Amino acid sequence: MLSVFDIFKIGIGPSSSHTVGPMRIGVRFLEEAASAGVLKGAARAKIDLHGSLALTGIGHGTDKAAMLGLMGFEPDKTDPDAAQEAVAQVRAEGKLALHGGGDIAFDPATDIDLRGDIIPTIHPNEMRLHLFNAAGVEIFARTYYSVGGGFIASEKQLTTKSEDDRIALPQRGPHAFASAADLLGICAEKNLHVHELILENEDDFRPRVETEHRLDQIWFAMRACIDRGLKTEGVLPGGLNVKRRAPQLWAKLHEAPLANEREQIFDWLNVYAMAVNEENAAGGRVVTAPTNGAAGIIPSVLKYYCADDDINIAHIRIFLLTAAGIGMLYKQRASISGAEMGCQGEVGVACSMAAGGLAAVWGASPGQVERAAEIGMEHNLGLTCDPVGGLVQIPCIERNAIGAVKAVNAARLAIRAADDPKVSLDQVIETMRQTGLDMSRKYKETSEGGLAVNVVEC
Ligand code: SF4
Repeated sequence: MLSVFDIFKIGIGPSSSHTVGPMRIGVRFLEEAASAGVLKGAARAKIDLHGSLALTGIGHGTDKAAMLGLMGFEPDKTDPDAAQEAVAQVRAEGKLALHGGGDIAFDPATDIDLRGDIIPTIHPNEMRLHLFNAAGVEIFARTYYSVGGGFIASEKQLTTKSEDDRIALPQRGPHAFASAADLLGICAEKNLHVHELILENEDDFRPRVETEHRLDQIWFAMRACIDRGLKTEGVLPGGLNVKRRAPQLWAKLHEAPLANEREQIFDWLNVYAMAVNEENAAGGRVVTAPTNGAAGIIPSVLKYYCADDDINIAHIRIFLLTAAGIGMLYKQRASISGAEMGCQGEVGVACSMAAGGLAAVWGASPGQVERAAEIGMEHNLGLTCDPVGGLVQIPCIERNAIGAVKAVNAARLAIRAADDPKVSLDQVIETMRQTGLDMSRKYKETSEGGLAVNVVEC
């Protein structure tokens, strides 16, 4: 059952599928082991990472995230500095405090097995966890999948097929929709805007006031991330020697007379998006929007249009609710996993969500919101995922800046359009899905093709 807060989740960088998901898998695994009554007898644990989780796992911090999960760290409650310390301690002492169990011997070099040669058939992000007793006998094992945006699933959940071979995740609430056409139909029938419809659905999860409070918390976390990224200078971790650029650009913008250049809008959108993605690359606190790799686009557009001088909380809520409704469609009808769809499923989806959200803030009708979201994706179709060195830095950081600018233009094109659209959002989502399925796995978060092989690491 999808909620707005499944799409927007507070976590830590650098990757929702390769960091947030594996942390959540570790926590879930131990809960299941505790329910089975075997956790207290565990003397050793082993983590197997397969497919994309192995191929880009070190660069994306999957090894660390898996250890953190076994220590009970939850992404939304984890202080990034405390997480770094805990991992360093495991490495230094060769033992890990299994959450709900005891201290166990743990050597990341041997107890984490990265098998990029194993290509999972169910989903490219496969993780298998094992517990052994003191005699070395396996007492519990489970296989899970990190399916994008921090969502996780068990083997059983993914192998139970829905009728049309997509994961069935209907919304809760009075206005369940399975397509953009459904969404628009309900809006027309009930005379609702997209954000009003989504908000009424959220009422089924919790009191309205709590939803509004949580939306504001999401925005505050995005804003805090921008603020940290604008101030923090230095070189990003991972060995590529990528220098943080947001603080320098931010300083230049403040020195320059405002609005002397018409193109300055690009600088503002760029600086906010890069601030977020540089924080993400450094393992900082980030909101999935809908993923970590694409986390800069929505905060950038939100900040520039809804919170630059005066913070307009009403507009921020409209933006987030509308964008989340669009994100649900992608999650439900295709995928938001770079390992399944390439970057079109991350940056493309974020661009589409931001375009729809901004159009809504500008007073667009549901049809115009749908059109903005469609344009936002149409011109990201085929976008590959080829991160250099397996790190979420090149091309990811700049790609978010480009995505933010593109989202604004998509909203603009939709608002200005005088004719009927020739392409629907449902059609473009299905096109993204088919393109993702046809795309070579070299371009789906494996770092085996594209920039990842043509740019020499130094
Ligand atoms: S290229 Fe895109 S999908 Fe791949 S890691 Fe970077 S942001 Fe994510």
